[in-house]
Formats: sequence, C-alpha cells, structure tokens
Amino acid sequence: MSDEHRLKVDWIACNGYGVCEAAAPDLIVLDDWGYPILPDGSVPRELMGQARKAINDCPMVALSWENRASATGGRLGRLRFGRRGRG
Ligand code: SF4
Repeated sequence: MSDEHRLKVDWIACNGYGVCEAAAPDLIVLDDWGYPILPDGSVPRELMGQARKAINDCPMVALSWENRASATGGRLGRLRFGRRGRG
C-alpha cells in the first residue's frame, strides 16, 4: 500500500478566499484570483501538519485528501460517507 498523501480541491465548492494558503504556505500558492494551486498535490511527511490544518480550516470543505483511506486510516471516509445508503 502506498503511503503517499495528496491533496485535491473540489473546484465547485472552492470559493477562492485562500484560507488554505495561509494554513499551508509551503504546499499551496494562490493564483491571481485567489484560487489555490497545488504544485504537484503530494504532501511530504514533514508537511502533513500544514495539510491537515488547510483541510480543517477550509470554510467550504473544498480541500481533502485524494486518497482518504490512506491518509486517514479510513475514518474520514466512514464519517463522511458511512451513513449514506443506510435506512
Ligand atoms: S480554503 Fe478552501 S475554499 Fe478557500 S481557496 Fe482554499 S480550498 Fe478554496
């Protein structure tokens, strides 16, 4: 199993206010309109804290792990999607 962690942006949800760049300046830069650019999207181990802060601080829940199961041990995926399909 790969332990590579990558960020992705939901471009429909993103409002371009750039909160993520303030939380993760070593991972994210903003374009001229304030939308995030993830140079290659991968997150080195030493920048995992910044990535987590950017995800947690994003007001639109537009930033997430590309591989949720790997990045969160599967917990986030279950929290977000586990109840769908029940009942
Ligand atoms: S904080 Fe979230 S909504 Fe704001 S620019 Fe970054 S990804 Fe988009």
